[in-house]
Amino acid sequence: MITVKDLNDLSGKRVYVRVDFNVPQKNGVIRDTNRIVAALPTIRELADKGAKLILMSHLGKIKWKEPDLAKIEAMKKANDMAPVAKALAELMPEHPVHFCPATRGKELKDAVDALKDGEVLLVQNTRYEKGEEKNDPALAKEWASLADVYVMDAFGSAHRAHASTVGVPSILKEEGKPVALGFLMLKEVANLTKCVEPEESDRPYIAVLGGFKVSDKIKVIDSLLKKCDKILIGGAMAYTFKKALGEKVGSSPVEDDQLDYAKRCYEEANGRLLLPIDSVITDKFEDDGSGRIILTKEGDIPDGFEGVDIGPKTRELYKQELLKAHLVFWNGPMGVFEQEEFQSGTIAICEAVRELDGHAFTVCGGGDSASAVKQFGYKEDFSHVSTGGGASLEMIENDGHLPGVDVLK
Ligand code: AMP
Repeated sequence: MITVKDLNDLSGKRVYVRVDFNVPQKNGVIRDTNRIVAALPTIRELADKGAKLILMSHLGKIKWKEPDLAKIEAMKKANDMAPVAKALAELMPEHPVHFCPATRGKELKDAVDALKDGEVLLVQNTRYEKGEEKNDPALAKEWASLADVYVMDAFGSAHRAHASTVGVPSILKEEGKPVALGFLMLKEVANLTKCVEPEESDRPYIAVLGGFKVSDKIKVIDSLLKKCDKILIGGAMAYTFKKALGEKVGSSPVEDDQLDYAKRCYEEANGRLLLPIDSVITDKFEDDGSGRIILTKEGDIPDGFEGVDIGPKTRELYKQELLKAHLVFWNGPMGVFEQEEFQSGTIAICEAVRELDGHAFTVCGGGDSASAVKQFGYKEDFSHVSTGGGASLEMIENDGHLPGVDVLK
């Protein structure tokens, strides 16, 4: 597979770059520009080499099944890419950045034709097109017709076989045009491959899994059990396991349809899957200011209470396990980290990684855990904090394969 480094003689060439500019934003105010910043090395490299850059990304969700057209228009408006173009222009003042509000047709073609060497065009949200998520061949053909070269740098979207991530490069590849990986993709794939293919020197390899649903993580648990020495479970998903093993979990969130799986998985792990031994529990999940009871509890959780974080004994247990590790993969917070009272478990994992002080290769696999790592100020303590939660999980589940990468091979 070739990379942006291998692409030369780009003056006059139209280079389509699939970036991941799916930034957290509301009403056009961007909360975090990390994803834009992460793509800059690739964009700069190509623009400096004289390419005419066409940047494509999705932003947020547009539910095309919605029958009310006014609601679809509202979703489009809420996910308008124009503010992202403005942010990109501010982050990269050395190259002109244009924005094209159209996703197809003459307006888009004209905007591409007007590009000069070293200039950048950010196209409106790819999901404004109904055919994007269906990998519609006509849409992919139209987008491919705009480009001479394809570069994939959207790690956070590489697990999706959409028109912009798989349709376009497969057409360009068939036409004999260069298709390449960007710098962000190279870094993400290299770091996550370590978690997919651990070496003997990486042992013990410890995974930490948290978050809300067991059902979201079934495949990754199965896959990690084959690769890791131990999996430490936290978050709401721990209570499905605990209920499956006969413990009372009060009103903790449980997926009853996953109980059989959880029991079988725990038994097959043969002591390698660790569950919380105590929990922080509360009678009121949402704090309305009228006071709530917060306790630490070992064993059964009483009725009317729910587990919202791992307890102090579990934090210590998990820390001791992590301090032995040579390789760590973490995905999903240990508790409701958005609320201050329930952050300690998630912070404890960050603290353990800090204490490892570079003695292990530590990967935070994106999503909410990556937000927590940044929010609590531990980003520099990790060897790698991924920009793609779904993509990093899928890479582990599928033994290193991602549709957006495989199509380039
Ligand atoms: P996920 O998207 O599956 O990684 O889940 C992340 C979400 O799970 C976060 O919003 C957390 O607040 C939430 N979460 C983690 N632990 C718990 C818990 N014990 N009870 C309720 N929600 C939780």
